[in-house]
Amino acid sequence: MSVATVAIPHETVTEHPVLEGRGLSKRFWVRRGHGPLTRRASLRAVEDVSISLGAGKVVAVVGESGSGKTTVARLLARIITPESGQLLLDGDPVPRRRSRKYAAQVQMVFQDPFASLNPVHRIRYHLVRPLRIHHIDDQDVDTAVDELLRRVALSPPSQFVDKFPHELSGGQRQRVAIARTLAVRPRVLLADEPVSMLDVSVRLGVLNLLADLRDREHMAVLYVTHDIASARYLADRIMVMYAGQVVESSPSVSLTDHPAHPYTQLLLSAAPDPDRMGRPLLVTGGAPPSLLAPPAGCRFHPRCPHAMDICARVAPPSVEIAPAHSATCWLHVDASDRHAPDPEPPAAKRHTNEDLTDLSAGGTGG
Ligand code: SF4
Repeated sequence: MSVATVAIPHETVTEHPVLEGRGLSKRFWVRRGHGPLTRRASLRAVEDVSISLGAGKVVAVVGESGSGKTTVARLLARIITPESGQLLLDGDPVPRRRSRKYAAQVQMVFQDPFASLNPVHRIRYHLVRPLRIHHIDDQDVDTAVDELLRRVALSPPSQFVDKFPHELSGGQRQRVAIARTLAVRPRVLLADEPVSMLDVSVRLGVLNLLADLRDREHMAVLYVTHDIASARYLADRIMVMYAGQVVESSPSVSLTDHPAHPYTQLLLSAAPDPDRMGRPLLVTGGAPPSLLAPPAGCRFHPRCPHAMDICARVAPPSVEIAPAHSATCWLHVDASDRHAPDPEPPAAKRHTNEDLTDLSAGGTGG
């Protein structure tokens, strides 16, 4: 399939987003080498990611370890600040420092329910604390705690409220972690691999709880996962990330029925599917590249069975291949349009800041 080259931003399509990130990029600095040869090097965790979360919708960000998906969630939560790009809440720019007001509207659920609850405190303590910090329901805290436990299907509340975290199952602990985020009445829930550490038997219950929060409470939900099958089950829209960049974005059914990017095809091929007839869409080896020195051109080209000459030299544009469905791949560009952009005029001096000087000394830029 070839279409005309149309460069568009990879962005979730939401009419009135509650929370929006535009062109978010983030680098981390790491040390490489030993002794006197130690150098600082830049790890490009996320590059130019745009995403919008609408009320009553789930957006899934899918990718392997190191794809940058958790960094996107942390950027949206304002736990870390982007190097460039903008965050908007209800269309208004979000200040660089995470305020209590922002935290009350945008809450994050972490991957490990074992680590996110303090083992020396009872469940009541974990739920009362955010209520008190945010001055909510000061009058009748016990009723508010019971209500929170019921909302996450831990019922009757009396069976759970005086237990310690270690007395609950993994699924119940994750429900308590979600109840704790609900205590401040957020409008956006950022769930970072919320089921990956749970037994398979309880994963579906937690996913259904997130779906329930979307449908009944009209919450905007970000679901970060490496499991594209669960993303299809839960999400209205899926963004696929590879090596810090978005490579495909689409309504979830369209993406899983008609994957356009070879990496998405690889993820789908790796997902167990008892209904699949015949051979998987794509089978290939290799591992994601180091983000300290990502490959030139398309970052997937060392693993891609469809790689062409241009793929190793020039980064592909993002192309709209169907309404609200875009992919960053040269395969979807007319053959006659597959050429390198004109070289830039030499006058502009680039990379002037100190960090980039350091980087070139370390020889790690990609
Ligand atoms: Fe493969 Fe080239 Fe498409 Fe990258 S741009 S996914 S290397 S075909």
